[in-house]
Amino acid sequence: MTEFKLQGSGGYVIADLTEEQAKKADLGVGKLFLAPIGKLETKKMFKHYCNMCETEFDNPPKIHLEENTNEEVADNLILIERGQYTCEKCNATIGEYRVFKKNDEAGDIGKARPSE
Ligand SMILES: [Zn+2]
Repeated sequence: MTEFKLQGSGGYVIADLTEEQAKKADLGVGKLFLAPIGKLETKKMFKHYCNMCETEFDNPPKIHLEENTNEEVADNLILIERGQYTCEKCNATIGEYRVFKKNDEAGDIGKARPSE
């Protein structure tokens, strides 16, 4: 098991990642980020740091579900859930997550956005 430090907008989370998740989190700037991974299970997160409290907590952050949606963000790519990881003490947002689903797993999600 490896502990990764994942940067969010209001702090960071220490979590156990799969190789695939670690690749997604690595945007090539020497840090790992929470946002690109999708939703992490609470049991995979060990600690969180809150910029507001200036404290590292030895617990997973709370997960706050913002909305269940069904929004097509690209051809064959649906945003199904959106939410935040929040501080256990002051409820400040540590980072955000998004969960996507492909309509057709075999389809090409890049089609609608050739520039990406
Ligand atoms: Zn806090």
